[in-house]
Amino acid sequence: MSFKNIIGNDKIKKYFNNSLQNENFLHSYLFLGKEGIGKFTFAKELAKYILCLNEKEDLCNCKSCLCFNSNNHPDFFIINEEGETIKVEQIRKQLIDKIIEKPIISKRKVYIINDCDKMTREAQNCLLKTLEEPPEFIIIILISSNENLILNTIKSRCTSIKFNNIPENLLKQYIEEKLEYKDLTPTLLKYYDGSIGKVLKAQEKKDKLIAIENIIKNIQQMDFISFIQDSKIIYDKDNILEFLDFIIVCLYEQAKIDKKFLNCIPYINEGINRLKSNAYLDMTIDILLFKVWEEVNEKSNRS
Ligand SMILES: [Zn+2]
Repeated sequence: MSFKNIIGNDKIKKYFNNSLQNENFLHSYLFLGKEGIGKFTFAKELAKYILCLNEKEDLCNCKSCLCFNSNNHPDFFIINEEGETIKVEQIRKQLIDKIIEKPIISKRKVYIINDCDKMTREAQNCLLKTLEEPPEFIIIILISSNENLILNTIKSRCTSIKFNNIPENLLKQYIEEKLEYKDLTPTLLKYYDGSIGKVLKAQEKKDKLIAIENIIKNIQQMDFISFIQDSKIIYDKDNILEFLDFIIVCLYEQAKIDKKFLNCIPYINEGINRLKSNAYLDMTIDILLFKVWEEVNEKSNRS
């Protein structure tokens, strides 16, 4: 079976394995589902199998697969945002202008439009005609984590494939086996929220996340000075928003033991809002930490 590098979503794998076996494809697919759950990886793997000249095996050495593996396949195209959006000029230049040209190596040509919800309205309208009457050999895979930004006219011309989040147990297995985590905590797993993309993105700061989790867990046993000292890792301009998101998950976990941790969450959200409107990082974190500390320690002593 193909797609063995992709976790979960077995129904979708089965569906496309069938299509591949029977060489029976539709002209346009719309891959939907949360960010970071493997839609793009899946689309790329699917494209490779569609273009393959042989048995569509993982380790195939046909001309098509060799070109594909070296990112140099003349019948395969990825359209990404340029700047903030995918513009109409891009759709024209990268797709429409050459779409009637026949494939060079394979039987088909495959286009992936990644984050297709970033297409401007004009770009979407421009694509529409191609979706209505695509050349016989064309397959277009649109990918989106933000379905409501796509025009209904586009949606109605594509076959929607909805990807599910990766179940916690499968994600856990993947992280422990493939990424060799030895210290995956339930809180961390919750934070990853079924998204392999989030795991990979957080991999370099995993140790910091674990340290933050420990601070929240032990905050009631710490004196204020060590709390502030240990919390120094949070003062990190590049990662602060992710850290604060993670702290919220930690607080929810801790609230299962002691409800007053829930009262801290508004302070974190307030901090996030301040930072998003460009408040000073240091001062915002100072205030936030002080309030959290006070909430779980001082207030309980008074009552
Ligand atoms: Zn091949």
